[in-house]
Amino acid sequence: MSSPGTSPAVVGRFAPSPSGPLHIGSLVTAVGSYCLARRQGGRWLVRMEDLDTPRVVAGAAEEILHTLEALGFQWDGEVVRQSRRTAAYEEALEQLRSAGLVFDCACSRKEILASAPHVGEEGPVYPGTCRQGLAGGSQARAQRVRVPAGTLCFTDGVFGAVEQCLAGVVGDFVLRRADGLFAYQLAVVVDDGAAGVNQVVRGADLLSSTPRQIFLQAALGLPVPRYVHLPLALTAEGEKISKRHGPLPLAADGGDILWRVLRFLGQPVPPELRSACAAEVLAWGVGHFDAALIPPADRFLSGD
Ligand code: GLU
Repeated sequence: MSSPGTSPAVVGRFAPSPSGPLHIGSLVTAVGSYCLARRQGGRWLVRMEDLDTPRVVAGAAEEILHTLEALGFQWDGEVVRQSRRTAAYEEALEQLRSAGLVFDCACSRKEILASAPHVGEEGPVYPGTCRQGLAGGSQARAQRVRVPAGTLCFTDGVFGAVEQCLAGVVGDFVLRRADGLFAYQLAVVVDDGAAGVNQVVRGADLLSSTPRQIFLQAALGLPVPRYVHLPLALTAEGEKISKRHGPLPLAADGGDILWRVLRFLGQPVPPELRSACAAEVLAWGVGHFDAALIPPADRFLSGD
């Protein structure tokens, strides 16, 4: 609990999807979220986003945790697994339904694509077909949330002022998918809220998801965390690094890779620390990490 006049303690988190082993792109997020939370004397939680069961790879969650441990990361409390939190998502969906914000949708992907007003950066914008109720005889597939007209704004810790018109860019988005699984957008908001996360540090590929999440936080009566989106690590060809580019090759004990990640994040980690052990490099990050130095530009970062 915070006393009057003091800011609440920082609660940060790292939320990997166990669809493969940790790669250099997710390591950037782990380092940034960890160093920033610890530098502020805060807590750092780990949550396995294993909600999208068809994409979960057996053993990947344990492998990610093992790699984090080997690099010297220490998390607070138990690791939360989204696959065990269905009841909480169910409850949030009901809360939104009671507020009149949820509607059943019978549209297939193909139908949406055919009638979408335009294809935005997030895919086809939902055309509103089922907003006023299902057409006679059609079967509900997914559940969507009604988004308001108007622009949603927030200030990101790296990218500055961001604004998005949800209705124009994404439209009424899915909360529960046709396969019955809860959507990432709902789960992340429910989980961050339940864990008291007040500082979200993650890759800039999620910058455009943030307005959807802020909208859901408001609708569920949850506080809005501070957002810090990190530049994306790119391959030499300029592609975003993903699990497809292979696991992290952990040479020796990983000090070198942590050193390069800190440099990538704009931190002036001394050259002589490059050959230090992982724990020592991470300790430098915890002692010195400065979000103001993070450059808002995606660039090359080699994993080996
Ligand atoms: N699970 C997401 C990912 O691995 C991150 C979600 C988040 O940090 O909000 O990309």
